[in-house]
Amino acid sequence: MDKKEKITMLHGAGGSVMHDLVKNYVVKAFGGIGNVAEVPLEAMDDAAVIGDIVFKSDSHAVKPIFFPGGDIGRLSISGTVNDISCLGAEPYALACGLILEEGLLLSDLERILASMRQACIEAGVGIVTGDTKVVEKGSLGGCVMNVSGIGKRTAALDSDLQVVKQYRELKTRWALDSNLAVGDKIILSGTIGDHGLAVLSAQQGLKFGSEIKSDVKPLNRMIQSLLGKVGGVVAMKDPTRGGLADATNEWAEKSKIGILLYEDKVPIHRDVQTACEMLGLDPLEVGNEGKIIIGVVPQKAQEVVEFLQKTVEGKDAQIIGETTTQFKGVAMQTLVGGKRIIAKPVGDPVPRIC
Ligand code: MG
Repeated sequence: MDKKEKITMLHGAGGSVMHDLVKNYVVKAFGGIGNVAEVPLEAMDDAAVIGDIVFKSDSHAVKPIFFPGGDIGRLSISGTVNDISCLGAEPYALACGLILEEGLLLSDLERILASMRQACIEAGVGIVTGDTKVVEKGSLGGCVMNVSGIGKRTAALDSDLQVVKQYRELKTRWALDSNLAVGDKIILSGTIGDHGLAVLSAQQGLKFGSEIKSDVKPLNRMIQSLLGKVGGVVAMKDPTRGGLADATNEWAEKSKIGILLYEDKVPIHRDVQTACEMLGLDPLEVGNEGKIIIGVVPQKAQEVVEFLQKTVEGKDAQIIGETTTQFKGVAMQTLVGGKRIIAKPVGDPVPRIC
C-alpha cells in the first residue's frame, strides 16, 4: 500500500481491501505480543481463544441506525454473539461502548437500548459493563457503538467434536476457519442478501415489490443445540460483509481446499433476487446478519440440515456445497450446468452495512 494512500469506505467493507488493511497494518502492529492465545489475532478468525474463553470485539456504524427488520442496537448484540458462537462457544457476558452524536433524540436512544435488551434476552446473555461518550454533530448518523464479549467452552462443543472424531481427526478443539477437509459438506442456515438489501433500501429510499427485512438475529441457541444434539460440525462462519462469496473464500484459503457451491441450492428470497438483478448486485457478495455457513463431516450433513430446518432460525437451511481437491478457491455449479469462479469480493457493494 502506498503511504500517501488514505482510508476509503472500501477499507471497511469486508472483502480483500479490508482484509489487506487488517493484515498489513493491524495484525502487523499487534501480532505476537502479550499472552499467547490458542487462536490468536493472526488467525483472523471470528474471535480469539485464550484458555477456555472466547473473546470478541465488534463495532457497528450502520447507516441509517434504523432499517427494516432491525436497528443498530439489535445488530451490535447479534454481531458479537454470532462471532463468539461461530467458534463453538456460548456467549457469557457483553460490554457495550456507546458513542452518541450531539443531536440524537433521546427517544431514539431509548428505542435502540430497548432493542439491545430484547436481543440480549433472546440470546440469554447480559451486558455487564460499558462506556458512554458524546461527540459533536458530524457524520456519525446518530450513534456508533462497540460491543465486546466473552464466551465459554460448552459440553455441546465437546460432544460435537466427539462425533467428528468418529469419522476423522481434528487438530483443534474449536470450530475454526482452517478445519475443513476434503469431502466436508457446506450448509447454509437460510436465505442470503436480506440484511444488505434492507439497509440499502433504507439508505436510498428504495421500494421493492414487498418490504425486504433484515435477518439480524442472535444464533447462539440454534448453534449450541445443533452441536449438542447432532454434532459433526467442524467449522462455522457468519457471512456478514462481503457475503457468502467472502466467507467461503476465507474458508478455502485458510483450509487450503477448494469449495464447490451449487447455485440451485443457495436459498434466496425472490424479492431479494429481483432487487439484486435490478441494481446489478451479486447476492453472493451482499452481507447477512442472521445466517451461518457450517462445515460438516459428510456422514452427518443430512442430519444437520434436517435438524436446522426444524428450528426458527434455520428453517430454510440447505446443503449448498462441498469441499474438493479438484481446484483451489471457490467455484459454483450454475443452473445452466457450467462452472463459474466465485472470486473474493473487493468489498461489500453496500456501504455501512453493519
Ligand atoms: Mg464473523
